[in-house]
Amino acid sequence: MTATLQSRPFRVITQLDISRIPQLQRLDPDFVLSMKAVASVLPFRANNYVLEELIDWSNIPADPIFQLVFPQPGMLQPQDLASMRALIAAGAPRPRIIEAAREIQHRMNPHPAGQKQLNVPEMDGEPVAGMQHKYRETVLFFPQAGQTCHAYCTYCFRWAQFVGIEDLKFASGSPQTLVRYVEQHPEVTSVLFTGGDPLVMNSKILRQYVEPLLGMKHLLSIRIGTKSTAYWPYRFVNDPDSDDLLRLFEQVDRSGKNMAIMAHFSHPRELQTDIAREALARLANANATVRCQAPLIRHVNDDWRCWSEMWREQIRHNAIPYYMFVERDTGPKEYFKVPLARCLEIFQKAYATVSGLGRTVRGPSMSCTPGKVVVDGVTEIQGQKVFVLKFLQGRDPQWSGRIFFAAYDENAAWLDDLKPALGETRFFFEPELEAMKASGNARVWQKPGFPGLLEEN
Ligand SMILES: *Cc1c(COP(=O)(O)O)cnc(C)c1O
Ligand code: SF4
Repeated sequence: MTATLQSRPFRVITQLDISRIPQLQRLDPDFVLSMKAVASVLPFRANNYVLEELIDWSNIPADPIFQLVFPQPGMLQPQDLASMRALIAAGAPRPRIIEAAREIQHRMNPHPAGQKQLNVPEMDGEPVAGMQHKYRETVLFFPQAGQTCHAYCTYCFRWAQFVGIEDLKFASGSPQTLVRYVEQHPEVTSVLFTGGDPLVMNSKILRQYVEPLLGMKHLLSIRIGTKSTAYWPYRFVNDPDSDDLLRLFEQVDRSGKNMAIMAHFSHPRELQTDIAREALARLANANATVRCQAPLIRHVNDDWRCWSEMWREQIRHNAIPYYMFVERDTGPKEYFKVPLARCLEIFQKAYATVSGLGRTVRGPSMSCTPGKVVVDGVTEIQGQKVFVLKFLQGRDPQWSGRIFFAAYDENAAWLDDLKPALGETRFFFEPELEAMKASGNARVWQKPGFPGLLEEN
């Protein structure tokens, strides 16, 4: 790729620009009408770097980055696509289009997995805005000013937030709530900033969240989940406050904590521009660790060669392969869905091509209500073909590392689609999970008598 290391002013591209993007003028106008129809229902946001450096415009619509960022006709049910196309073609007034879009959005499972209710912790008897505490060691924090991204992924499970049908009250927190909560919770060893993309915030604002954490002895790491390394690497190189950002990362390191960038890379191409490589080099210079994760998505990266190449690029550029996720059941899931059996096949083939340095990666992993569950393999037990599943993270910390089995099903694409194997009627965690749901308290480690972080359990 040709991207030079020169700075580039950020230019956002939204739905209203679809008619004006020169690269799209070569496309069939009928396809462009469908894109507009989809973009009126699902979020769309791109930028000049993605457009000019990442997308291969000679391979549209199949190009994986085009699929990653641009709306595609198949993302809506045929009848929904037809009705939105008709409204737009007829020049319907904006409120009419919005109303029709809302109706479709509400049918697309905008709030998957009832996560919120169980994950939002309490402080002084009140739910804590902008925070989720699902696994004992790590709190997720959603800073108020970090609720957008440099571009949107078409498969993003936060799409409902970006189109404004999700209440943002619980998706945005202040530095004060973060500090107070973490102070009161010595079991928390890691704070994970997420969004949106926290690195859309300028460094000065980010610093207000990060600095107060540096004195807390029980914190071992501060993590930032971001796609800026892929969508806007200039953030780390030559944006106006890039140096300030790297200085903040160095400061975290010097305070005796690991600064971890949880980089979302979906495709090897995102690691192949000069500017992305420079961003990774600068992060290494600032003593920040980069760990990489992404979901496996049909049309984007559903090919073992793609993952193999991506992991190899990561190893080469000081980035550590970390998770391969299974896509969640929300939004245009049907368009992106890859069955678990196929995810596993892609994972295993790619895994076999890297050295041990790449086998830090775990996957394919589902972030579902009981925890993070990895599909570890397929085998035969007592004549029955089964999936071998394992908790990488559990709502009950004692589930972590536990193995269980499900009947093999070549079409299953999520934990909910699976049935217990070997004559069992329920998965081992189900009774306890139901008790958590019934009591409304899912943080079992906070109950009296639960073994502490460093006690034997
Ligand atoms: C994935 C995840 C984390 C972090 O888990 P690690 O395995 O430590 O990376 C924390 N909270 C939630 C809700 C998550 O889904
Ligand atoms: S960068 Fe992350 S939060 Fe933003 S759209 Fe993509 S997946 Fe969603």
